[in-house]
Amino acid sequence: MATEKSAVFIIFGGSGDLAHRKLYPALYRLFKAGMLKDHFAVIGTARRPWSNEYFRQTVVTSLEDFDDDKRMMENFAMHFFYQSHDVNDSDHYIALKQLASKLDDRFETGRNRVYYMAIAPRFFGTVAAHIKSEGLKTDGYNRLVIEKPFGRDFKSACDLNDALSKAFTEKEIYRIDHYLGKKMVQEIPNLRRKNPTFDKILNNEYVSNVQVTLGESLGVEDRGGYYETAGALRDMVQNHIMQIIGVVAMDEPEVMEADAIHEIKDELFASLKDLTPEEVSKDFVRGQYDTDNMGKLNPYRKEDKVEEDSNVETFVAGKIEFKNDRWENVPFYVRSGKRMPKKSSRIDIVFNEKVADLGIRPNTIVTFFIEPEEGSSILINGIDYQSVKQDLIKYPEDPEIFNDAREAYESLIIDILAGDKANFTLWEELKSTWKYIDVIREQWDKESPKFPNYLSNTMGPDTADTLLEKDGNSWIWN
Ligand code: NAD
Repeated sequence: MATEKSAVFIIFGGSGDLAHRKLYPALYRLFKAGMLKDHFAVIGTARRPWSNEYFRQTVVTSLEDFDDDKRMMENFAMHFFYQSHDVNDSDHYIALKQLASKLDDRFETGRNRVYYMAIAPRFFGTVAAHIKSEGLKTDGYNRLVIEKPFGRDFKSACDLNDALSKAFTEKEIYRIDHYLGKKMVQEIPNLRRKNPTFDKILNNEYVSNVQVTLGESLGVEDRGGYYETAGALRDMVQNHIMQIIGVVAMDEPEVMEADAIHEIKDELFASLKDLTPEEVSKDFVRGQYDTDNMGKLNPYRKEDKVEEDSNVETFVAGKIEFKNDRWENVPFYVRSGKRMPKKSSRIDIVFNEKVADLGIRPNTIVTFFIEPEEGSSILINGIDYQSVKQDLIKYPEDPEIFNDAREAYESLIIDILAGDKANFTLWEELKSTWKYIDVIREQWDKESPKFPNYLSNTMGPDTADTLLEKDGNSWIWN
């Protein structure tokens, strides 16, 4: 049985999509596992005037797809309380503080608080400021959880960080990148540690190139309004793709602990090779989806809340390089797009001929499948060699690690309750990645792309292929 944790969760945006689709199911699984039991409470806040009973009903409804144990769900929901709240109204924070204190006493939570920002990013700073000014912070722990996006460029990220820093220390801030909660991404550092051969060949002597693809089959659906302000570069590359690269490319930390891991990651991101505007035009390509070959699907420009002449990219591919001893001259090709033929998040590490010196077949490809399928494979000349997989990467037998179906949010909430920041994004990393992304964005904003430039259900524009062909390489997933 898991060790029980104590806290009051205050979920700002408790009536929203993220809360109902991800957070409540994740908290419920922790309840079923006994990690949350008698000493926790959840306050959901939003503008609507809901009763506790109505709120609890919405919570139970959000769980019904996952479970049919009505009694368990109702017991869980009894820990939920609703507080109607407008982000700008100081009186509402005072009411919130009184409710949280009451629940601290009733559930004996140790006065620990998790403040979860499941609201629009423009409110993050305001809410944090009121938490401080209305005295919600306690003498237990106070952990602030921030959803993406963390800014839309370096400057706005700095402004947001300055605002948050007035109320919370960096140690108290947990910036979510849910890819860091995914099982295969979390397993990569473990696999590297447990397989010294694998770690030894992860460098420019043996790696030809690394490919990270986060592909989605869907279009923007009902999120056109948000997407118009973001685009694939900001939405996927600055955060998720960069963090995945971090896990693959970082040096091995001395110990697998948050401080050591972040120190190593900071160094890696600080060694990102600066881009000139010419390199942006040469090494990064963008696309926007058109209809499919049957003419059935909406082009991006016809989606709800999207401008008819929008130049927002729904696809990006690029070449990222590092100027450090380990990775100098190894291209990290990255790609993310909507309306690709299927949903797939994967990392392909393509080895060169030199691995033959170590008894490994030349041109071996190691693939990590992140989602929807999870696992890894080793390809030699296009053939999947299961037996080689066992030789090179020994899977831990521990069923706790490999056979559970832990969702990313569940795993990240466990980390928050444990005070473990290893799988969260720190400010120094964000600074480096935003600076890098800004150069691309600034150059792109000066040019007029010819959009739309790829059909739905395809692998993106042809330029994404030429990007690799120029280097004598090709996408492994194509
Ligand atoms: P949503 O629109 O479904 O929910 C927003 C919540 O904020 C609602 O509960 C709403 O009542 C509340 N709210 C709005 N205005 C308010 C105000 N003035 N005062 C108080 N409360 C107010 O949004 P969502 O999809 O749940 O997203 C929430 C956050 O999570 C956003 O920052 C989003 O970028 C991030 N996020 C969401 C997802 C997702 O899957 N939905 C994924 C990643 C990140």
